[in-house]
Amino acid sequence: MSDKRDYYEVIGLNRGASDDEIKKAYRKLAKKYHPDLNPNDKEAEAKFKEINEAYEVLSDKDKRARYDQFGHAGVDPSYGAGASGGSPFGDDIDLGDIFSSFFGGFGGARRQANPNARRRGSDAEATISISFEESAKGCKKEVSYNNIDECNECSGTGAEKGTSPKTCTACNGTGQVRINQRTPFGVMQTVRTCERCHGKGKVIEKPCKKCSGNGRIRKKTTIEVTIPAGIDDGQILNVRGKGNAGSNGGPSGDLHLYVNVRPHPIFERKGDDVWCELPVTFTQAALGAEVVVPTLYGKVSYSIHEGTQPGDVFKLKGKGIAHLHSKGMGDQFVKVSIEVPRNISSKQKELLKQFEESLDDKNYQKRKGFFDKIKGMFKE
Ligand SMILES: [Zn+2]
Ligand SMILES: [Zn+2]
Repeated sequence: MSDKRDYYEVIGLNRGASDDEIKKAYRKLAKKYHPDLNPNDKEAEAKFKEINEAYEVLSDKDKRARYDQFGHAGVDPSYGAGASGGSPFGDDIDLGDIFSSFFGGFGGARRQANPNARRRGSDAEATISISFEESAKGCKKEVSYNNIDECNECSGTGAEKGTSPKTCTACNGTGQVRINQRTPFGVMQTVRTCERCHGKGKVIEKPCKKCSGNGRIRKKTTIEVTIPAGIDDGQILNVRGKGNAGSNGGPSGDLHLYVNVRPHPIFERKGDDVWCELPVTFTQAALGAEVVVPTLYGKVSYSIHEGTQPGDVFKLKGKGIAHLHSKGMGDQFVKVSIEVPRNISSKQKELLKQFEESLDDKNYQKRKGFFDKIKGMFKE
């Protein structure tokens, strides 16, 4: 039996956690255990997978409800049944496997799983790296990865082209043979899996050269994927049916696509908002000015008011990142930084001195307030 951890335990929250809390906890953990940040660390990799599996269920309303009610079995019918495949509530659950997990292992001869059962392929994995802009707006990307696919030479039969698997003569295609065994109690008949065909009932006389009779080959696959706008660094896209091929006509597994978002030189993401710093000259700040601000959607002009201070923040509505899988956009926040001129000439220095002398406390409120606060602290 599987000893899967509770999904809530995996992400460190209680059952009643809000969607937002789940999202936050996921992001934090996904960052911590991301394979890119923990190269060659098998434990981190396993953790990362576990976190993503938990998030996939807990972030989906239906799956979460099923999980809350039935536990792992509610979202994964193969859980606890010992079967390696079986699509959720589909028709291809391998009863042989379920049978063997219930009745096998209790000292008796373990019944072999039916080798002809339909089995879903396992999931494949790939990583994709996209730019900040692509994550904000969404994009289409080609991704190449290795997966197990049906052999195209033999169409998955494993038999050389032009031939086909033959019915096994040792078991007449039943996959099982009866054996008479002499025991102290007389002759007993037992049923065994046919050794010649390993229970398949068919044998391949001339194996396909390309796949050595496996019917499946490992190969490089390239597909185009649509990355939805708003995807964040460290998130995983599930691409249905693009994983490893199933066997005996079972469906393919999925592709888990790990998304890396490359950092941007000036933009930073906070939730679905974009932040950037905008340097302006101290004269522009003092006088107010029309400034040009870069956004993900092109340049926009913005007028900063007279007396703008360093650290002032203004907002450009709707210029942030699209909400993932829902309508609406984040905003862009622009933090003003002020550049003080360097390498000024003696003439410019003279002008500045004259200018400074013309100012008083009402021009420098912050400075005045600061010194007012410490009045009396020092005795002269
Ligand atoms: Zn083949
Ligand atoms: Zn046989």
